[in-house]
Formats: sequence, C-alpha cells, structure tokens
Amino acid sequence: MPPKINAKLCDGCGACVEVCPASVLALKGGKAAVVNADACIECRACEVACPRGAITFE
Ligand code: SF4
Ligand code: SF4
Repeated sequence: MPPKINAKLCDGCGACVEVCPASVLALKGGKAAVVNADACIECRACEVACPRGAITFE
C-alpha cells in the first residue's frame, strides 16, 4: 500500500518526493500526492523524511 498524505499537515516541502526511490510521489497544487501508487515498495523513506508527520501507513 502506498502512503497516506495528510494535506492539512503537508507544507509542500518536497522532501518525500526527493527521497522516494520509486517516483511514487509528486507535488500537486503545493501538496504531496501519490501519483504512482503501484510502484510503492513500502520502504517508508518518505515517512521518515517528512518533517511534519504528514505521511502515514495503515
Ligand atoms: S514507502 Fe518508499 S516507495 Fe513508497 S512512497 Fe514512500 S518512499 Fe516511495
Ligand atoms: S515531506 Fe511531508 S511536508 Fe514535505 S511535501 Fe512530503 S508530505 Fe508534505
């Protein structure tokens, strides 16, 4: 499963986009968004990189 992004917490810094090894994430309208869900390898690098706790997994 790809990550969940809390748009209320996300400030669009882009750290998660930069760190993702599979190009799952992109900035859209100033917020991070999942754009390639099937490619996620669940490494959780995005979750670790997010300075605002906006990324979670179920
Ligand atoms: S868990 Fe890994 S592969 Fe999936 S979106 Fe986050 S950084 Fe990318
Ligand atoms: S690292 Fe966190 S705050 Fe930065 S763009 Fe990604 S989800 Fe938003």
